[in-house]
Amino acid sequence: MPNHYRPMHPDLLARYDRPVPRYTSYPTAPHFKTDVDSAIYHRWLTETAPDTRASLYLHIPFCHEMCWYCGCNTRVVRRPEPIATYAQGLIAEIDAVAAALPARLRVGHVHFGGGSPNTLSPKDLTGLIDHLRDRFDIETKAEIAVEIDPRTTTDTFIRACGDTGVTRASIGVQDLNADVQQAVNRIQPYDKIARVVASLTDTGIDDINVDLMYGLPHQTAEKVAETVDKTLKLKPSRVALFGYAHVPWMKKHMRLIDETTLPDGPQRWQQFETASEHLRQANYIAVGMDHFARPGTDLANAANAGKLNRNFQGYTTDSASALIGFGASAIGALPQGYVQNNPDVPTWHSAVSENGLATIRGRALTDDDRARRAIIERLMCDMVVDTDEVLKESNHTQRDYAAEFEKLAGMARDGLVEVSGTTIRMTQAGQPLVRAAAAVFDRYLDQSLDATPRHARAV
Ligand code: SF4
Repeated sequence: MPNHYRPMHPDLLARYDRPVPRYTSYPTAPHFKTDVDSAIYHRWLTETAPDTRASLYLHIPFCHEMCWYCGCNTRVVRRPEPIATYAQGLIAEIDAVAAALPARLRVGHVHFGGGSPNTLSPKDLTGLIDHLRDRFDIETKAEIAVEIDPRTTTDTFIRACGDTGVTRASIGVQDLNADVQQAVNRIQPYDKIARVVASLTDTGIDDINVDLMYGLPHQTAEKVAETVDKTLKLKPSRVALFGYAHVPWMKKHMRLIDETTLPDGPQRWQQFETASEHLRQANYIAVGMDHFARPGTDLANAANAGKLNRNFQGYTTDSASALIGFGASAIGALPQGYVQNNPDVPTWHSAVSENGLATIRGRALTDDDRARRAIIERLMCDMVVDTDEVLKESNHTQRDYAAEFEKLAGMARDGLVEVSGTTIRMTQAGQPLVRAAAAVFDRYLDQSLDATPRHARAV
């Protein structure tokens, strides 16, 4: 155990370790409304400025097996046919979006997420990327990222990634301990993961992102530390450290997890702090509240320069003003607001076949939403925000949010934030609880304790 573990007082944990959004958008997805539909999305696409720089997200909602901690929109499919049919649906949706746009937009980031994108056949992955290059102006140095399940990927799929210009792979590791893996139905020995990383590196994909988790059944700080140390041998360019959100009332497969083996609040805190300390001691730079980047990487440089952004994939260097989502449940963000596709694969497919678009809900942004979003994003990314600075191009000033500043007084008394004039700064002790401070600016969040919370705990 490291010497630097900073215990948090149980009273503070009890006060702030509540379900709060991760603020990958504002307003957050539970507050999207059905009044934003395919017709509105189509209009927003036609209004897009031709010189807009866009990012693209493709959701692949299939896995070969269900991990019991999974919070993603996915389903178990083992036959290749439904996945090939889905890929054809994506092609149709890409065509419909491209036809609605006024120009072939420039694209700097493409992300395949899921689910497990490696359930696509190598041919379908290549076909989709080729099709995107046809319909969009994908920049020569664009980042093309693919999430990969090391248990089920193949050398052929990895070769196709290399050949088609994939630059980054994101690998779910979570925990390397056999008991923990057994308890969450995700058995993947370290050697298997290391072999996949070596194959990726051999094909030229050496920008590797690894996801780790704390708060899983049977996890202890020692097991988490061991996982971090072994993971660092893979030399990932970034590590994301997420807390497991146990919401069996929303995700039925989570009922298969024995709740008596889940760590409590103080144990989760100890695991997070221990993992963070091991990453810092390995010279990884803390990025936002839960990412760590190897020095010299684009994410570390963006964090040091105060140029970090936040989108549905978490912390990113991506500063595009339009994010276009494809596939069932995919979320897009345009200057006018957010849109989300139908999460049900057959319904999404029918909608795309009939209309080209499958929007089921979204949110048109007000000036106030934009102002609050700017404050929340800077706080989440930089741990400090000068509200008047970020609002200088809006119709708002700090005075419009004086009530929210007052609500921060409790966190200030507890030593978690410092408020000075128009500036809010998370203290070092408060940084892991930044979501609780951001939530003060969320006018849609019911701050009362909810019996069926939709969000993960703050720690
Ligand atoms: S591989 Fe990923 S998306 Fe699929 S079930 Fe496991 S955690 Fe969920």
